[in-house]
Amino acid sequence: MSLKAHEIRELFLSFFEKKGHTRVKSASLIPESDPTLLFVNAGMVPFKNVFLGLEKRPYKRAVSCQKCLRVSGKHNDLEQVGYTSRHHTFFEMLGNFSFGDYFKREAIKYAWEFVTEVLKLPRDKLYVSVYRDDEEAFRIWNEEIGLPPEKIWKLGEEDNFWQMGETGPCGPSSEIYVDRGEEYEGDERYLEIWNLVFMQYNRDEKGNLTPLPNPNIDTGMGLERVASVLQNTKTNYEIDIIYPLIEFGEDISGATYGSSHENDVALRVIADHLRALTFAISDGVIPSNEGRGYVIRRILRRALRFGYKLGVVQPFLHKGIDVVVEIMKDAYPELEMTREFVKGVVRGEEERFIRTLKAGMQAVDELIERAREEGRDLLKGEEVFMAYDTYGFPLDLIDEIAREKGLKIDMEGFRVEMEKQRERARKHFKVEVKKVKPVYQHLRDIGKTSEFVGYEHYEYETEVT
Ligand code: ATP
Ligand code: MG
Ligand code: MG
Ligand code: MG
Repeated sequence: MSLKAHEIRELFLSFFEKKGHTRVKSASLIPESDPTLLFVNAGMVPFKNVFLGLEKRPYKRAVSCQKCLRVSGKHNDLEQVGYTSRHHTFFEMLGNFSFGDYFKREAIKYAWEFVTEVLKLPRDKLYVSVYRDDEEAFRIWNEEIGLPPEKIWKLGEEDNFWQMGETGPCGPSSEIYVDRGEEYEGDERYLEIWNLVFMQYNRDEKGNLTPLPNPNIDTGMGLERVASVLQNTKTNYEIDIIYPLIEFGEDISGATYGSSHENDVALRVIADHLRALTFAISDGVIPSNEGRGYVIRRILRRALRFGYKLGVVQPFLHKGIDVVVEIMKDAYPELEMTREFVKGVVRGEEERFIRTLKAGMQAVDELIERAREEGRDLLKGEEVFMAYDTYGFPLDLIDEIAREKGLKIDMEGFRVEMEKQRERARKHFKVEVKKVKPVYQHLRDIGKTSEFVGYEHYEYETEVT
């Protein structure tokens, strides 16, 4: 019997506890004190101020399993979801951290001990990478761990040098990969499971690196990826904590997982997005038109569209929330407490969008049909604008559908149409203002107000006329 994901999580946390680490509960997906970041996207985020020396904690070693969402900013894996075997929007990152305590040697040794002795991954299938100038890490892997040089890849800055921002703590990293065999290609064959970051420099405004007096360790390992290796599944989506969601999608749609690439992608997207929605809304994000809320709204609409592709034309996501909660509630008790709330939010949102989706999908399909008949691989700006404006169909969905069918959309043309629309609105507004002028006049006359009180009163004042 292979290890279950919940067991792997617990093995990781207790392994590092035994190595003197304090177990720290996952922080919310909403970053507490980082306005630059929409969602927590790595295990180190809640510890950022500790690494920067701005915050003191009563421990120098910590271990956590952090909820992560990679749907915005520098880390945005949304478009990968469903297509690669290893990317999710929402996933759990296992990590051990040292705040000026142990460093490279221990970090490497702990990681190696965990993967080979606790998880018992076969040594001959493991590869690592180091930053090309990091002789020290190379030597530790080679001489102390005993990996032959051909299994230690030296990579450049892009892959193996990490930095928090333009300035501040940074350093080389070292990653662990599992060779999954010849039937996989490239990154899918050598699956990256664990990233060890050696935070050993500070970068100043001029770009100069100076060594930190007390270097830090930050590591991150994707729980779902490790589970897929141990459970020997082709992708992350067949592991024990995700597969029930694939089955949920099958039940709802009648589609069979494995029957076609298109269906598989759709079922995976639905499974992934259900997890993201459940966790994000449970942490307090409400679908809206801006910021975090907008990201969540997009995810929900995207999931609905993939449902639609499978022939589901009714709201269904709220039913999937129960499946997520059942699987994850022991590890994340907050899910049980917020279950009904999350379901209500999702249900309301999908009921509102489903009609738009139906009409919009038909309109977009017709546009694509017409473009094909005319031998175009481009949807015209005014066509896209029509679907957007008449049906309120989100631009990113139109773009995605077009791309799936091998077509592009004329963004510039779309912008021109948008501008024309604004212009029309402005003119209309001016006319309306002229109409209400007597009202202002009247109000002034009766001494009610002498200042412009803002556009929100506009509606009211036209009503007065
Ligand atoms: P990849 O190169 O596969 O996109 P990454 O280098 O972007 O991964 P890191 O930023 O190093 O990933 O994150 C640390 C670990 O978190 C990875 O080694 C992987 O196990 C896991 N991970 C990263 N992104 C995802 C994701 N989108 N879904 C699931 N697990 C992920
Ligand atoms: Mg990535
Ligand atoms: Mg990588
Ligand atoms: Mg990485």
